[in-house]
Amino acid sequence: MKTITINMMALLLFTATTFSQEKLTNMSDNFMLVIHGGAGTILKKNMTDEKEKLYRDKLNEALQAGHKILKEGGTAVDAVEATINLMENSPLFNAGKGSVFTNAGTNEMDASIMDGKTLNAGAVAGVKTIKNPISAARIVMEKSPHVMLSGDGADQYAKEMGVETASPDYFKDSIRYRQWLKLKETEKQQLDHDATEPKGNDGIPEEGNNIDPSEIEFNINIDEKYGTVGCVALDRHGNLAAGTSTGGMTNKRWGRIGDSPVIAAGTYANNKTCAVSCTGHGEYFIRNVVAYDISAHMEYKSIGVDEAAKQVIHKKLNELGGTGGVIVLDAQGNFTMQFNTAGMYRGYMKANGESEVMLYKGND
Ligand code: ASP
Repeated sequence: MKTITINMMALLLFTATTFSQEKLTNMSDNFMLVIHGGAGTILKKNMTDEKEKLYRDKLNEALQAGHKILKEGGTAVDAVEATINLMENSPLFNAGKGSVFTNAGTNEMDASIMDGKTLNAGAVAGVKTIKNPISAARIVMEKSPHVMLSGDGADQYAKEMGVETASPDYFKDSIRYRQWLKLKETEKQQLDHDATEPKGNDGIPEEGNNIDPSEIEFNINIDEKYGTVGCVALDRHGNLAAGTSTGGMTNKRWGRIGDSPVIAAGTYANNKTCAVSCTGHGEYFIRNVVAYDISAHMEYKSIGVDEAAKQVIHKKLNELGGTGGVIVLDAQGNFTMQFNTAGMYRGYMKANGESEVMLYKGND
């Protein structure tokens, strides 16, 4: 009896394994993951070896998490969510835990996700109690009849749908707090990754109105913790997805919302063209409709990801005076990582496990 049971179990196991192997062999071998952790004034000279290692390790960990999901046949949406969750949970990045402070001393987060197969999309803006805003965005995409929810309503909806919540204190990070204190009195808002260039409310740097550079040096050298996070993925079913999550700009007020939760500005995915996640000065990304514009360039001009991203970032965004970067991936696995800032936390992992993480200009 015992032998029969063991034999039956072995048979079941064999069948299940063969079945899942068969399922996997029916899928494409081509899959791909690309991530960013924010673009900005990221310079080798301002980075200690320890800090650099922390960033590289975390970016590698995020790549591995997403890659595993894709390898096992998971969807691009699954991979994007899990990869971003990992970065949201790290105080190294300006998303989820470690989000920057608003003028009111709160942390208000934005996120969006888009499925390139269905063109379905979801976003939350200004949430304060959702541990992983990208997961709330996914719930909005998959379970609600809407694309974007904001403020208390978004918090409430995500909570009702069972998305994990956290107390406002969970998001507070002492270093972000000190960054904010330095800016608070100036009434300026600042990109988390752009500490050397405080902006006026219209986004234009104001002469003579900058915060003390020595204070900024303090931030850069000791407290450097930048970055909106984003991920684009191609799965073994041939589908693309993109997602972006952020705390926005330090000292933001009046319910300011950037590009990250705005589909077409900060995030876009379409199997026919590409998946895009942006980071940078949100106002410019909204005005340039950056993510969608890259897709439109590909669609209407029949050009590839690299050329399309270069035209939008290095030409159109530059002309308007915007700064930031993008990661872009197409359904064949071609990808590009473009930015017009000093650096961008970024990395990719191919189906064969080949991967690279880079922080600065060039391949470093
Ligand atoms: N794009 C984000 C925003 O403007 C900020 C960032 O990417 O760092 O809210």
